[in-house]
Amino acid sequence: MTSASSVTVKLNTGAEIPLLGFGTVSEENVETFKEALTAALVDAKYKHVDTAWWYNTEPYIGEVLESLDKSGQIKKDDIFITTKVWPCYWNDPENSVEISLKNLKLDKVDLLLQHWPVCFQKVEDSNGRVGLPKDAAGNILYDKDGDYLVTYKKLLKLKDEGKAKAIGVSNFTIEMLERVIKETNVVPACNQVEMHPHLPQLDLYNYCTKKGIVLEAFSPFGSSGAPNLKIPLVKELASKYDVTPADIIVNYSIAKKIVILPRSSNVERIKKGYKLISLEKSEVEALDQFGVAHPQRFVNDPWGKNLGFEHWG
Ligand code: NDP
Repeated sequence: MTSASSVTVKLNTGAEIPLLGFGTVSEENVETFKEALTAALVDAKYKHVDTAWWYNTEPYIGEVLESLDKSGQIKKDDIFITTKVWPCYWNDPENSVEISLKNLKLDKVDLLLQHWPVCFQKVEDSNGRVGLPKDAAGNILYDKDGDYLVTYKKLLKLKDEGKAKAIGVSNFTIEMLERVIKETNVVPACNQVEMHPHLPQLDLYNYCTKKGIVLEAFSPFGSSGAPNLKIPLVKELASKYDVTPADIIVNYSIAKKIVILPRSSNVERIKKGYKLISLEKSEVEALDQFGVAHPQRFVNDPWGKNLGFEHWG
């Protein structure tokens, strides 16, 4: 059977993006993370890695890419790399990108995303880390002068300077997409959002499809514990096609031309990759309708509250 790692879709820049990307949030130790990434790149032949300044995994991705390239197991240039600018860098994304590129040992990324349409103050927490500033009562310290449009404009400049081949956003609603497009006349190449059979977000899907914005599905299995793999319809289809429930979710996304970014630290599982199958149109629609009837969002980070997302909380 063909592997899902080989299929691509075109971005509005003309570049091809692999529809399967390896998610690099990590709850594991560094060695386990590096083994997982190596299995994804070498055994499962992933051609796309999704990371972010916020994940703290960029230095290890940089090491693995360089070492596999040197040993001839992969060509680093063949791997599509995405990174993201965190809200504490809303006003100086160039500094965020400089750190990311240094850690990834690259001079440019294939795709640079604005991680969230919010702006944090850049102050250290009690551990000396910037990223999620909070006051003594635990409230997040937003930058009152911040505007996500400023970040978007600065990302466009970074693309012009050659630091990224394409620019996109993440966690944007239709209204936010409309605003940045109206203000800059530049349509983002993609919008990375939580999307899976429990959260098909059909209005956002239809809008992005019409505008030529590639959607990317994060937390496709429902994040830690992978609850989406237990959906009865997903299990039923897995049994019909003699594949795993994870294969069904990957193929549901691929059928809709949505980039999918699953994460795993289980090397044996990663090595098997995902099988490419042809779901029937009616099956894809049935999975959509499951989500319409049973909407559930699994990533409910506090800074996402009140931004206008469907089915928050
Ligand atoms: P996922 O939805 O990919 O789920 C990961 C969980 O699924 C892990 O616990 C993993 O366990 C388990 N899992 C994976 N494969 C299987 C399988 N075949 N059978 C059973 N369990 C399985 O989680 P994430 O929330 O990490 O999302 C994926 C990626 O999306 C992130 O890593 C990141 O790159 C991106 N992301 C982006 C966000 C944004 O704001 N832009 C927000 C959140 C995520 P195990 O390790 O044991 O395999």
